Amino acid sequence: MDEIFMLAALAQSRKALPECLPNPPVGCVITDAQKIVAQGYTQAPGKHHAEANALQQIQGQTFNFLKMYVTLEPCSFHGRTPACALAIAEDSRIHEIYVSILDPDLRNNGQGLDILRKAGKTVNVGLCANQVNAFLNQYLLK
Ligand SMILES: [Zn+2]
Repeated sequence: MDEIFMLAALAQSRKALPECLPNPPVGCVITDAQKIVAQGYTQAPGKHHAEANALQQIQGQTFNFLKMYVTLEPCSFHGRTPACALAIAEDSRIHEIYVSILDPDLRNNGQGLDILRKAGKTVNVGLCANQVNAFLNQYLLK
């Protein structure tokens, strides 16, 4: 099931183009008890990233144990929008995060994962990395 959800996040990633550019086209899926409850993708620059886009859809709703699947490491820096890693870290409904690939952008580069782990979240990296990398790699800042 985890793979199916990451591939659903990858499908969301593709929807981000071309409006998201120059930001990478990231996709995000949130599940509750093996069912998708929210999905999002990177909006135009200055608007929601994929994670914030998905979180917005379940704003105010109560869940005990959500899992998030995101194609790229959540951002750890405040750019045009607040850092997604902080928003996820502060959301007590989300317990486990699957990140397909790390963000090579030096402003992030593992720091997004650190924020999530320090907040006590379970973080898994590398799910469907080949498929995600084949699509996303060309859009990453290196
Ligand atoms: Zn972000």
